[in-house]
Amino acid sequence: MVAVSLTSLSKEEFTNFIDSFDTVLTDCDGVLWLGNTVILGSPNVIIQLQEMGKRVFYVTNNSSKTRDEIVSKCSRLGYPATRDNILSTAYLTACYLQDIVFKKKVYVVGSKGITQELDAAGIKHLDVGPDPMCSDVASLLRNEVQLDKDVGAVVVGFDEHFSFPKMVKAATYLKQPNCIFIGTNTDEILPTEFPLTVPGTGTFVRAMETCTNRKAFKIGKPSPYVCEAIIKRHKVDPKKTLMIGDRCNTDILFGTRCGFKTLLVLTGVTTLGEVHQLEKSSNKEDQELVPDYYIDRLGDMLPLIS
Ligand code: PLP
Ligand code: CA
Repeated sequence: MVAVSLTSLSKEEFTNFIDSFDTVLTDCDGVLWLGNTVILGSPNVIIQLQEMGKRVFYVTNNSSKTRDEIVSKCSRLGYPATRDNILSTAYLTACYLQDIVFKKKVYVVGSKGITQELDAAGIKHLDVGPDPMCSDVASLLRNEVQLDKDVGAVVVGFDEHFSFPKMVKAATYLKQPNCIFIGTNTDEILPTEFPLTVPGTGTFVRAMETCTNRKAFKIGKPSPYVCEAIIKRHKVDPKKTLMIGDRCNTDILFGTRCGFKTLLVLTGVTTLGEVHQLEKSSNKEDQELVPDYYIDRLGDMLPLIS
């Protein structure tokens, strides 16, 4: 399969493309903004799509923020948003635990973004935050590891205080086979404007999978749980849905698995060179990562749609 450049379409082909969907799911970081900086041109495209009658949902793997915090960020950067069109992994984790009628307590390796969404859903949890530093393993095990017998699930999300004591606790809870194991997402690293490598949630989830010899249930893109949750809550028709993303192994794979059309923007993680490598691959899994369309920046769509 070969990705088609959106700007190479004729006027008629572009109109057919626009008419082919009534719902847009857009990734946030890398499509709408980079960290705290808006990607110029993207707000106008989102506004224009909404004015054309398309429903827009913001779908982010970032588990460190509540829906209200994401609404505030959208407003600040010029994106129309309400709680109802935000699908974040912190919120969807709470939705999942509600769907399975979870009644025990959650041990969260993550941040307040997750615990506040659990509170909103009426799900009990232990507090998050830094654990005391571990001086040495022997004294940690002797004195500092206190377990709560009501814990029935471990959620691993983005945790800037990820630590050895937390790993010991989470792994011990997960020794119980009926303790539910959730990973909010699998992003290996986070995009950053700094010349640094920033480990993402996938790093923490993998660490916990390794020491427990278990696989976490994944909430965020590319997990089809996001799709199930959207369809259940918003009656989305996959055949009339466009997924916009900046990362092939999360956004585009998610879109392909769910039967959406996919559009890659080149303002984030995946480069066009990487797309061309995937196009050439005979591996079926690589083919699922190739987007239907690509465009340099979302804002480049503006002259085509207005
Ligand atoms: N996880 C964390 C903690 C992040 O900060 C980010 C981006 O800021 C992401 C995941 C990726 O988010 P998105 O799915 O919007 O690209
Ligand atoms: Ca992204």
